[in-house]
Amino acid sequence: MIKNKTQFDALITDIRNFVRFRWHPMEDEVERLGEVPEVLVQELRRKGYFGWSIPQAYGGLGLTTEELVLCAFELSQASVALRARVGTNTGIGSEALVVDGTEEQKQRWLPRMATGELTGCLALTEPEAGSEATNIQTTARKEGDVYILNGMKRFITNAPLADVFTVLARTEFGTSGSVGLTAFLIERGTPGMRTGEPYRKMGQSGSPVSDVYFEDCRVPAENVIGGHEGVGFKTIMKVLNKQRLHLSALCTGPAIRMLDLAIDHTQKRNQFGQVVGNFQLMQAMVADSQTEIFAAKSMIVETARARDRDEDVSLSASMCKYFASEMCGRVADRCVQMFGGSGYIADFSPIERYFRDVRLFRLYEGTSQIHQLNIAKLVLREHGKVTV
Ligand SMILES: Cc1cc2nc3c(=O)[nH]c(=O)nc-3n(C[C@H](O)[C@H](O)[C@H](O)COP(=O)(O)OP(=O)(O)OC[C@H]3O[C@@H](n4cnc5c(N)ncnc54)[C@H](O)[C@@H]3O)c2cc1C
Repeated sequence: MIKNKTQFDALITDIRNFVRFRWHPMEDEVERLGEVPEVLVQELRRKGYFGWSIPQAYGGLGLTTEELVLCAFELSQASVALRARVGTNTGIGSEALVVDGTEEQKQRWLPRMATGELTGCLALTEPEAGSEATNIQTTARKEGDVYILNGMKRFITNAPLADVFTVLARTEFGTSGSVGLTAFLIERGTPGMRTGEPYRKMGQSGSPVSDVYFEDCRVPAENVIGGHEGVGFKTIMKVLNKQRLHLSALCTGPAIRMLDLAIDHTQKRNQFGQVVGNFQLMQAMVADSQTEIFAAKSMIVETARARDRDEDVSLSASMCKYFASEMCGRVADRCVQMFGGSGYIADFSPIERYFRDVRLFRLYEGTSQIHQLNIAKLVLREHGKVTV
């Protein structure tokens, strides 16, 4: 339980040490195995890392948004599989229960998610509901005290290993868009639900992603999050608003790590009788990357503080996600360049793995285009202009 600054500083030091001394030496093995070894998962459980954002009343650390992003900056200075293993519990996998669950639902699931005994995930996306997230085709028909779900979810992070799934389904037939949608908490093993094989992906080896299928899946009515039908999209938007900030921080850590690796390389690699880090064209890439990392950190911390003051951060959180994810892509590209040919060869450097891992950031939890549209819509609204 975090009570004061000293304890928080100790947590930051603990994360830093775990990332440097336990995780970095394992990154190649995680890439090769395609999974995070159980011994490391157990360590993460013992350290309480699964419960960062879950309130203390339910066994978590109850970090503020500012504390959460500061921890995320540290944890994500590593290959993405590390933070993805705990990240659904500290974000999209538990947050619907945290913000809108009934007291009974919170008591039932959150303590076991906080310890990492249960892994959560968010199953929103479908084949026809990607950027258009309200175009949900999965249906949930009420029959007595159960709902019968039919449909499928696509691209669900941690689905192959998750124990509990936050699922959005259409409960009011004939509706479209965000109305008539209900959020459910569904346990693995519920009859009629199954997960697909993990996909083969561009990157993020060790972070499994798959489809989820519902075939006459019988879900108890008591699993409707908050107990209310028809308000599921509002719940999911609350989850995603916080998650945008969390993810922005998780986009920044890899940029910091990549720049560290690239600077280290350019201080060792000799060409033309000196280390390549002496050349000003190399230093320009260091300057641009460091400046952009600083900008991302500043806007993320500023927005996290505003959220902790209960201010509306819809616009700034969207700007953070857009900027930090695009920034990380630019830094990754420069770092490959600073490594030269070695940046392209997995046998010579981890940079090509990072380059592939971070490409996803600009795609999920709102593509860059969706955030551009959202930012423009909110800014124009502030200026009294109506947008389409
Ligand atoms: C590895 C991975 C993990 C994921 N994890 C999860 C998860 O845990 N849970 C979950 O629910 N989802 C998850 N997703 C889904 C992810 O959020 C979606 O892929 C994303 O929202 C984009 O949807 P889409 O793939 O259908 O792309 P599309 O919506 O088909 O977009 C295709 C292109 O069109 C552009 N576009 C779409 N609409 C517009 C518009 N109006 N104006 C301009 N351009 C537009 C997009 O920006 C994009 O460039 C994951 C995806 C991946 C790949």
